Amino acid sequence: MLNKKSVDDINVKGQKVLVRCDFNVPLQDGKITDENRLVAALPTIQKLVNDGGRVILCSHLGKPKGQPLPEMSLAPVAVRLSELLGQEVKFAADPEVVGPNARAAAEAMKDGDIVLLENTRYRAEETKNEDAFSKDLASLAEVFVNDAFGTAHRAHCSNVGVTKYMKTNVVGYLMQKEIDFLGNAVNNPERPFVAILGGAKVSSKLSVIENLLDKVDVLIIGGGMSYTFSKAMGGNVGNSLLEEDYCDYAVKMIKKAEDKGVKLLLPVDSVIADDFSNDANTQVVNAGDIPDNWEGLDIGPETVKLFTGAVKEAKTVVWNGPMGAFEMPKFAVGTEAVAKALAETDAVTIIGGGDSAAAINILGYGDKMTHISTGGGASLEFLEGKELPGVAAADNK
Ligand code: AMP
Repeated sequence: MLNKKSVDDINVKGQKVLVRCDFNVPLQDGKITDENRLVAALPTIQKLVNDGGRVILCSHLGKPKGQPLPEMSLAPVAVRLSELLGQEVKFAADPEVVGPNARAAAEAMKDGDIVLLENTRYRAEETKNEDAFSKDLASLAEVFVNDAFGTAHRAHCSNVGVTKYMKTNVVGYLMQKEIDFLGNAVNNPERPFVAILGGAKVSSKLSVIENLLDKVDVLIIGGGMSYTFSKAMGGNVGNSLLEEDYCDYAVKMIKKAEDKGVKLLLPVDSVIADDFSNDANTQVVNAGDIPDNWEGLDIGPETVKLFTGAVKEAKTVVWNGPMGAFEMPKFAVGTEAVAKALAETDAVTIIGGGDSAAAINILGYGDKMTHISTGGGASLEFLEGKELPGVAAADNK
């Protein structure tokens, strides 16, 4: 269990509460195309409103790099949040984020009111965690609530810097839920515990592999990263994604798995293509037998059986990263089969954000999972066994 104070441990009646949310939602022509992150933030906001707090929400959106770019304004989020909450969320349009407009909006609040500040990354100090903006944010409120799991692996003004200037720093329900699910799955799993890793690069998941090998019973590696393992074992990988510099690392991890008694499952066959395109010619070959000028873009049918078989026997499954270039339907078969196996098992299933979460939602399996993390990068760092700065900054119980 998380040893941090939460919104259940404070009394916010009549107080101004600054809540860092993760409203970093995809926008297309000013319309929100995936509102999962907004929905995930509602329980904390509702709790604070019901308790009579004056709720000042803040978040980043995209990467405006210190410029007040209109296309990255949080204005559309205020509109949609008002609808979801059934109550006005007043948008404090302000190019300085905490400038005259935001201060006036905060001053005019009554108990139970909600204000949303402008994109915190309009301020150049935000991502450098510089004091000036942290102090500005802290000057608006008496209590700070961090409910932004998606940015918890970063130390920025609006989630870490601000806590230096606040007396009370707690976490919200979403943050608590993320840490409890991920923490329990990784540190106290019902066994067999199976982790599935995929995605493009070994190099982006070095510490995850290393840390998980200390915890799991079975580690499955698919996707582009598996070809570096295949090459390391003497296979031919053709034009597949390959990080030659990490072949030694792959050998070390294969050895570590042996030493720890962890079953390391790698693809036994691949769907290969003569072009990186959905119209490419394809064939299935054994892993390590990929001819020159062909590239592996998905796991093959025998690998699907192997991986889904391991999922069926698991009591806890953590999944991060697709099994192939799943954005092209022709190469989404492996990723979809793994998603389906997770949807059909009674095991605890935890999806570590990013592409795997998107795939699960697109396939309509979202409500079949025990937990889908709202933070790709944050959940990966969590799986690395790191303490997240955004969590560390909250008051201990
Ligand atoms: P990551 O951000 O490392 O999780 O990687 C996700 C990306 O890896 C997705 O865009 C996939 O299309 C890509 N990917 C996964 N497997 C392969 C593969 N075999 N070949 C090329 N790209 C892949």
